[in-house]
Amino acid sequence: MIDVSSGAHRRYDALNRKWVLVSPHRTQRPWNGQEEPQPHGNRLPYDPKCYLCPGNVRASGERNPAYSQTHVFANDFPALTYDPQNGVTAPHPLLAVQTARGICRVMCFSPRHDLSLGDIDIAGLLQVIDLWTEQYERHHSRRGRKEAPAGNRAPLSTRWEVRCRK
Ligand SMILES: [Zn+2]
Repeated sequence: MIDVSSGAHRRYDALNRKWVLVSPHRTQRPWNGQEEPQPHGNRLPYDPKCYLCPGNVRASGERNPAYSQTHVFANDFPALTYDPQNGVTAPHPLLAVQTARGICRVMCFSPRHDLSLGDIDIAGLLQVIDLWTEQYERHHSRRGRKEAPAGNRAPLSTRWEVRCRK
């Protein structure tokens, strides 16, 4: 059972008459502090302290591969998780809650720390589009779910954290 004080769930916002995603565990994510953007000419193509640059160790302790193209991986601190065994119950009758399940992926558009999406050439943009399409097919589409292992074919919410200049 999911604890609403620490696990992802949806809550009903009665004032706006909408369901909203609540992910209280995301406050546990590491934060390097606010960084002011560097002028474009001063950016480094590789930052040894960046969690997302090729070959570096992420906050989870996992090491990134030495990727040379667009790279995608499971978010180390996902807003949603997929566990069909866990449900959620409201701790109070005035709080309407629902289970929220899904996957969270991080996409690094380029191995270069200094490039934003607008700086990437057409071939690099096509890599981003192709990988995003492949990920959508694999994790979200009806066809991708049919190819998933039995018992893991439920529709998923997919949240993306897209990093263009990490
Ligand atoms: Zn980086």
